[in-house]
Amino acid sequence: MSGLSLDATQLDRYSRHIIMDEVGPEGQRALLDSAVLVIGAGGLGAPVIEYLAAAGVGTLGIADDDVVERSNLQRQVVHGDDDVGRPKAESARNFVTQLNPDVTVETHELRVEPENAEALVAAYDFVVDATDNFRTRYLVNDVCTLAGIPFSHGAIYKFEGQVTTFTTDGPCYRCLFPEAPPEGMVADCATTGVLGVLPGTVGCIQATETVKHLIGIGDVLEGRMVFYDAMDMTFEEVEYRKNPDCPVCGEEGIESIGEVEYTDESCAVQAD
Ligand SMILES: [Zn+2]
Repeated sequence: MSGLSLDATQLDRYSRHIIMDEVGPEGQRALLDSAVLVIGAGGLGAPVIEYLAAAGVGTLGIADDDVVERSNLQRQVVHGDDDVGRPKAESARNFVTQLNPDVTVETHELRVEPENAEALVAAYDFVVDATDNFRTRYLVNDVCTLAGIPFSHGAIYKFEGQVTTFTTDGPCYRCLFPEAPPEGMVADCATTGVLGVLPGTVGCIQATETVKHLIGIGDVLEGRMVFYDAMDMTFEEVEYRKNPDCPVCGEEGIESIGEVEYTDESCAVQAD
């Protein structure tokens, strides 16, 4: 730890954090010394990247292999009209650099795959899953759970969202959903549409959880899934427990992701 030394500019920039007893210079220092990986610079990733950058998370990894399309701009607010056609990771980095020079951005213009996932997450203290497909969602769960890296999960569908946080002690995503639903059961944004502001709300909760975890304050959504319905403007919470028979974190769980077949259909753990 490099001490609590914050320069005059930082004392000014983060003054509304620092004056709170719950954060203080120690909490701000913790944020500046942290490294967070955001997987997906789309609807959920946009507010996560923006608020983590503003909060002064010192190292921000952004993994995305997509380019900005005009139809993204209705919700992916980290990108602008001039960014259409640019890689999303590069566009998001540009936003962060303009917002806060304290943040070192590491762009990963790649799709997270079984071959690169372990090395990718290893350098980070916390991971934010801001993706939109089950294959990556299960892969991120398995890799983070096995590596002992806490991560935030967020998902959206039309007017509804869900969000939870997986810590190293609590249940994992597969405790809740051992395998992905059959392909075609759950449609994506492109086919069903999504209220543009919806990922903003869910992503802001993910950013909040990340900041709390890094500072070490409050209670994160461990073993609790929050369901948000924008149409009714309701938040419901459902508790869930660690599954002793979980194929990943259970007693007989896998030891490496080599035991999992990540297809778009199943993400099933192979039987012995
Ligand atoms: Zn589990």
